[in-house]
Amino acid sequence: MEEKKYKVLSIGAHQDDADTSSGGLLKKLADKGWEVRMLSLTDGSRGTYDPAKAGPALADIRRKEAAASGALFGGRYDCWDVEDARLTASLENRERLIRYIREFAPDLVITNRPNDYHADHRNTALLVQDASYLLTVPACCPDTPYMKYMPVMLYWHDSFQKPYPFQADVVVPIDAYLDTVVKAASCHESQYFDWLLWPDRMEKASWPREQQVQDLAERFGRMFERYRKEYAAEVVEKFGAAAEDIKYVEVFEICEYGEEPSAEFLELLEK
Ligand SMILES: [Zn+2]
Repeated sequence: MEEKKYKVLSIGAHQDDADTSSGGLLKKLADKGWEVRMLSLTDGSRGTYDPAKAGPALADIRRKEAAASGALFGGRYDCWDVEDARLTASLENRERLIRYIREFAPDLVITNRPNDYHADHRNTALLVQDASYLLTVPACCPDTPYMKYMPVMLYWHDSFQKPYPFQADVVVPIDAYLDTVVKAASCHESQYFDWLLWPDRMEKASWPREQQVQDLAERFGRMFERYRKEYAAEVVEKFGAAAEDIKYVEVFEICEYGEEPSAEFLELLEK
């Protein structure tokens, strides 16, 4: 019998959201033979401090940066044409997302939580939540065959405290995948080596690329180390004595609108 080919879809508002927030897990699953797909719901065309650079030219750059990142995971990185900073949880976007998810038919969907400083992020979570149940409703978007199962849905990590702090339901050691996350982030040159340095760290924009990447690696390393410390109890509970050898983790919260993951499914993600 042919082995089942699992599929994972990570959905963000912008081109550098899905890969830098779930890239360790995505690379781990890609290495296990999963098909990896990423999606940016906006065109990213306002990711700059310079209004003259914003617009279709930047959207084009970001599409290419996303494609380069997708290649690291052996998958596609799709970008919608919705204008950056203008994403709404509209009926049109909801139905577009229902059709998109149905066509790919993932076993696992990952996105950000609905509490977030950025309206695009909030609306991304809302759209994924709004689409979730309707994926399985035959009379909704009947032109695209409905799903006969509900995918497992996870939220990637954030530090927002209200209305409740993030829960680390799923812990993924990523010591072996940190370099892929850094490489993925480095694909987004227009962001990590330009826009995201503005306004306080602009001196880094003129550093040699090698030094910029090293700086990025240290930053991501510190972040994943912090998760390891912050969720030490969860790491030890799941990995026991082996936790000693784990330095970096990604953590995910289970979205209760998705399928409740079985112990076997969780093991596919964590072990
Ligand atoms: Zn974003």
